[in-house]
Amino acid sequence: MEIDRSFQRIAQLAQQLQPVGRSLSDETLGSRGIEGMPTLGVGLPALEIEKAFPQATPATSFPPSVSDFYQLDDLLTGEERATRDRVRAFMESEVAPIIAKYWERAEFPFELIPKFAKLNVSGGTIKGYGCPGMSILSSALVNAEIARVDASCSTFLMVHTCLGMLTIGMLASEEQKQRLLPPLARLDHVSCWGLTEPGYGSDASSLNTTAKKVEGGWLLNGQKRWIGNATFADILVIFARNTQTNQINGFIVKKGAKGLKATKIENKIGLRIVQNGDIVLSDVFVPDEDRLANINSFQDTNKVLAVSRVMVAWQPIGIAMGVYDVCHRYLKERKQFGAPLAALQINQEKLVRMLGHVQAMYLMGWRLCKLYDAGKMTPGHASLAKAWNTKVAREVCALGRELLGGNGILGDFNVAKAFCDLEPIYTYEGTYEVNALVTGREVTGIASIKPPVSSRNKRS
Ligand SMILES: Cc1cc2nc3c(=O)[nH]c(=O)nc-3n(C[C@H](O)[C@H](O)[C@H](O)COP(=O)(O)OP(=O)(O)OC[C@H]3O[C@@H](n4cnc5c(N)ncnc54)[C@H](O)[C@@H]3O)c2cc1C
Repeated sequence: MEIDRSFQRIAQLAQQLQPVGRSLSDETLGSRGIEGMPTLGVGLPALEIEKAFPQATPATSFPPSVSDFYQLDDLLTGEERATRDRVRAFMESEVAPIIAKYWERAEFPFELIPKFAKLNVSGGTIKGYGCPGMSILSSALVNAEIARVDASCSTFLMVHTCLGMLTIGMLASEEQKQRLLPPLARLDHVSCWGLTEPGYGSDASSLNTTAKKVEGGWLLNGQKRWIGNATFADILVIFARNTQTNQINGFIVKKGAKGLKATKIENKIGLRIVQNGDIVLSDVFVPDEDRLANINSFQDTNKVLAVSRVMVAWQPIGIAMGVYDVCHRYLKERKQFGAPLAALQINQEKLVRMLGHVQAMYLMGWRLCKLYDAGKMTPGHASLAKAWNTKVAREVCALGRELLGGNGILGDFNVAKAFCDLEPIYTYEGTYEVNALVTGREVTGIASIKPPVSSRNKRS
């Protein structure tokens, strides 16, 4: 009864507003409203952001890069700068104008794959086999520049290049490299990398997927979770436990293999463009030629993760640079109380705090690459950079979100998208905490990752 009365009251109020309701709704919406009630403009397309908020430029027109306060460009070679500039121009002109809509719809922009292919960055540091053979710093700069405009695109390429392709580049036989890498370098094929399982995230080395030797190959059974690019990848690098040796081995599973199912994980709040998948493997047959030749234990997997962690450490740098650039422009364009937002002391302090963080993160990332080149990088170095950069970039994004006021929660101004995208990056490739503990183990000599109370400890 009470509910009925409330409904009638709403209907009466709606009748009073009908002149507005009719002009907004009836012609456009026909009978889509609730029966007996005018629709009051529900379902009309939103105003274009440029019309709704003409005072500041949205990120479809990406601002110039202004975060290099300490002239860190001086640390780069001419070639590194040229690669960086080429990727920056591409991202600003081809990706920025379209990407927020894909993010909103959580769809992958397949139209960009041939364009990324033309950039000639797929394969990163791998030499030969049609790959660009870049320095680790060039490859990191590429990753950061892509993340500056869109972190999902950088994750797509990072998974493909620094996990899928790099595993093949570092741990496959010569025949496998010759066969698999060239189409991946051309982006005719896309790869994904399946380590994590529903029951084993941080504890990935305990994974449960099995590989049983049968005549002419292997039978894979198990489940993977969170695997980036999984729903459309042509080449799936899958880690499984050899039932004879109990060690982790790596396998190439091809799209369409019998018994393979990959479904999209829905409802993500970050990296919405990345198609993360649940993979189910039911008696998937992998021929002997597709068992990756040099993966004989989890230690081999770790060799790949050490390099890819360098790349992941550069994603928050790129994200923070992009957020800073957008905020810098916004604060000068948007006025309140008769002055640009940039004239307010608190806003300036926030902007400068963001700028300081970008300088520090960049220097740490740059030094990490130099240590890698000199053969001096340890797992602890890479883990500290990944952990610390994601933590600091979180503050940069939070400050940026504040500075943009209401527009700080809209995808149109990039900051909200960056804010959300950073969350999964804080967690993947080893969470903040696990990476901190890898470095903690190195500097103290005491391992603390395994909990003191563990069913596995009890068994052993
Ligand atoms: C968007 C996205 C993309 C991903 N892409 C891939 C991919 O392409 N391929 C792939 O294989 N995986 C991928 N992952 C998986 C990712 O690597 C895992 O999510 C990550 O390792 C954390 O595992 P978990 O989510 O199960 O968290 P859990 O391991 O359950 O951790 C939960 C919490 O407990 C903490 N914790 C766990 N263990 C410890 C410990 N020993 N000490 C202290 N704290 C601890 C963690 O830090 C975290 O805060 C992706 C994940 C996401 C979210």
